[in-house]
This record gives sequence, structure tokens and C-alpha cells, in this order.
Amino acid sequence: MKIVILGGVAAGAKAAAKAKRLLPDAQIDLYTDDTHVSYSACGLPYYIEGNFEDYRLLLVRSPGEFEQDGIHIHLKNRAVKILSSTKQVLIEALGENRAFLVDYDKLIIAVGARPVIPQIRNVDLNNVFTVRKIEDGIAIRKKAEESSNAVIIGGGYIGIEMLEALVRQNVRTTLIEYAPTIMQNFDDDMSELILVELNKISGERFEILTSEIATEFSGDNSGVKLVRTGSGKEIPVDFAVICAGVKPNIEIARDAGIMLGETGAIKVNKRMETNIPDIYACGDCVEENLIVTNTKIWLPLGTNANKEGRIAAISACGGNETFDGVLGSAVTRCLNLSMSMTGLTEKKARTLGIEPVSVTVTKNDKVGYMPDVNNITLKLIADKNTGKLLGCQGVGAGDADKRVNTVTSALLAGLTAEEFFKNDLTYAPPFSPTIDPLLNAAQILSEKFSAYTES
Ligand SMILES: Cc1cc2nc3c(=O)[nH]c(=O)nc-3n(C[C@H](O)[C@H](O)[C@H](O)COP(=O)(O)OP(=O)(O)OC[C@H]3O[C@@H](n4cnc5c(N)ncnc54)[C@H](O)[C@@H]3O)c2cc1C
Repeated sequence: MKIVILGGVAAGAKAAAKAKRLLPDAQIDLYTDDTHVSYSACGLPYYIEGNFEDYRLLLVRSPGEFEQDGIHIHLKNRAVKILSSTKQVLIEALGENRAFLVDYDKLIIAVGARPVIPQIRNVDLNNVFTVRKIEDGIAIRKKAEESSNAVIIGGGYIGIEMLEALVRQNVRTTLIEYAPTIMQNFDDDMSELILVELNKISGERFEILTSEIATEFSGDNSGVKLVRTGSGKEIPVDFAVICAGVKPNIEIARDAGIMLGETGAIKVNKRMETNIPDIYACGDCVEENLIVTNTKIWLPLGTNANKEGRIAAISACGGNETFDGVLGSAVTRCLNLSMSMTGLTEKKARTLGIEPVSVTVTKNDKVGYMPDVNNITLKLIADKNTGKLLGCQGVGAGDADKRVNTVTSALLAGLTAEEFFKNDLTYAPPFSPTIDPLLNAAQILSEKFSAYTES
């Protein structure tokens, strides 16, 4: 059996390793236009900020290690066309002026996503970076170590992580976000809280400009020197990092007749099968099922890519496991502030026609006399009609994410706020107050439901 895999970061590398374990005699060839395979893009901000010196710690498995297991890795080889009628892929060897066809019995598409480049004049100047690949991380870190000023375009989770990285490299950083708030995948009140909390700790180290747009980079042959904004600001910079979101690499699949879903990413079933027989897709190039509502969502996250790569391999090898979907769980950090969420936000619920009811509590994350006590704010959301929990968001310097993680199980189980309030969470002073803030939130939420029932 010949298994061909396109792309080799999280989904593709996982699929290759799993397929080899399942079918040791299969011929497995992985083609990627990248210079590395099997790496942690998620770790790039932490490498850039200087947590460790050797970027190779980001590499999970080298091409040599794959080869030892009998998996053939073809770096700098871009797939340009899928010919499903003859079960072949046209591959272009980058820099060699050469293209060739490879045959497959099973094809796994794991070509991921790429950064969105906003329309800013002179965006192709030197020292304007995106952050996606190993080379990006190496180049940004080198530049950060020799620089004083930078600008980040975009206040989503990668922009926020890059803000921490550059601040820790002592680079004075301006983050420009065109929307009125940052971290817009949270509800507006929580995004506002994130902004307020970050502004409190910014000092002279960074500034966040919201409702502002970068219109032009200006510089010379050596690179960008100045960023101009819509409101007329001129910000001197040594470099810029664009973190304006990502979009799925769907072109090669679409051109082969593979169906896209309603989110614009590749449509797959729970076995990661596309509409064309023997072609599977996984990772950032596919859309997911959002378990809470059974609707489609595109959530380009490494954790999803890994799980999907595993299922794509199992299906390609004849197995029958499924990937049922995601809850929308995510977590990130900027300096000492953590931000996490799972399930639906109130605004997302409304777009799906669900009437949400929510409670927001701000509490200590531990007993107040503990030296490392910190505030956390939790927002717990339920469906007004059914009482079932829909989601949770957590922000704070304290341990908010462990509370959000607790809610994930409740979402999977379909618990109501009242049922969740009966949860027996752990307690000791270094870990939580006697009644955990999450249970406080659940209690208030279930009281709201009792009030609805009584009235
Ligand atoms: C800075 C940063 C921080 C992140 N932090 C987190 C985090 O904390 N938690 C989390 O869950 N996720 C995080 N992510 C997201 C996570 O890295 C991605 O979801 C994950 O890398 C997706 O893996 P993938 O294999 O689907 O796609 P990709 O990582 O995009 O890999 C696809 C590969 O395919 C190659 N390719 C593309 N087109 C072709 C072609 N035609 N032919 C051959 N090869 C091709 C690409 O060059 C690339 O090497 C982060 C991402 C970034 C950039």
C-alpha cells in the first residue's frame, strides 16, 4: 500500500507516524514545501522570548528519525496538483526546476494554514515578519535581540503571545488592532477586561492601540523604519510582526474537486474522509464539528490537528475510529495574564439563534491569606431555554484555566448549571477558596434558572 501525505507539521507528521505503526509494510511518503517537519509552531513565541537557546528543541522528530522508521520525508517538495482520476499527485521540487508525479493508494492532505497579510502599503519591506515556520522564529528572535522598537499588527492570540515575547526581549512594542478590543474570540466584556488588565501592567514596555489601523510601512533597502496609522500616528520601528490571523490552504484540494465546507475550509466526515474516495484531510486545512451545537467551525489549533492526523491515518489504514469534533477550548497567556475559554461565547450563541444567560464572577483563585493569591474572572454561560451549560471564559493572573478545563467535561456530558453546581471540586488553601469560584458562578447561574421557573 502506498500512502502519500502532503504537509508535515502537526497533522501530517502525526498521520505518518500513526500509519506506519498500523501498517508497518506500507510505503509512506511525506511531501512538504517546508524546510522542517514535525515541529511545534506553538512554541515559537516562547523561543523568540528567550526561554531556551536552541530552536531545535521545537523539533519533535527529525527527517532522519522518520527515515529510520521507514517513513520517507521529502522536504522542499510542493504538491501542486492532485489527479484523483489516476490517483497521482504532481510534485514540484523547489529550487530544482523539476516536477514529477507520484502515485498513491491513499492520500492524506495536511497542508495547514497560512498567515493573512493585510493590505498595508510596503508590507513586503525587509524586517516585516509573519510567524508560522521555524525560519520565522529564528529571524524574529535574532532581530528582537538587536532591536529597541517593534510593532505587532493584530491582537488575536498569536499577537498577544508575540507581545509577551518581544516585551521579554526588552523591545518596546506597539500592538495595533483595528477592532475596538483585542482577543475578539472572547465576549466583548471579557475582551475589554483583558485590555484593561494588560494596560495596567504595560508600564513603559508596551502600548496597545485599538480602533487603529496600520496603513503604511515606510523604510529603505535595509528594512522597515516607520509605521503610519489611519489616525495619523507615525511609529518608529526596527521591525514589525504581522499577526492578522490565518486562512486555510484549501486551493490544491478545491482544484481537485474536493468539497469545501460552510466555513471555507475542507469538508470532511468524522473519519476525516473527503468527498473523493481514498483522499483524507486533517489539521488546519479542515473544518470541525462544534460538539455543543453540532454546527461547523474552523478552529486551527495544534491540539485539533494532532487528533485529526491520527484519525486520518487510522481511516486510511482501514480502521474505524472517529473524531467527533471540538468544544472550542483554547488558552493563552500574555505576561502574567492568562485567558482561556471553552464552548460558546454569548455572542457566538446569539449568532446560532440560542438565547444565552450568563454569570460573571471575580474572585480569589486561592484562599486570601496565601502569598500567591490572585484574582480571576470567570464567565459561565448557559442556554436560557434548556439550562444546559454552553461555555466558560476565564481571565486573570490566577489559575483561571483549570476552572475552564473543568467546564469542558460538563459540556461533553451536557450538564445543566444546576447539575454542574453539585460538582465535588478539590479544596485546600493553596489551590482554591473553600467554595471554588467556578461553583460560585454555577450557583448564581442555577439560581437565575430557579427564578425563571418560579416567575
Ligand atoms: C505562533 C503560533 C502559536 C500557536 N500556538 C498554539 C497553541 O498554543 N495551541 C494550539 O493548539 N495551537 C497553536 N498554534 C496553531 C498550531 O500551530 C497549528 O494549529 C498547527 O501547526 C496546525 O498543524 P497542521 O499540520 O494542520 O498545519 P501547518 O502547521 O500549517 O503545517 C502545514 C505544512 O504543510 C506545508 N504545505 C502547505 N502547502 C503545501 C503543499 N501544497 N505541498 C506541500 N506542503 C505544503 C506547509 O509549509 C506546512 O509545513 C499556534 C500557531 C502559531 C503559528
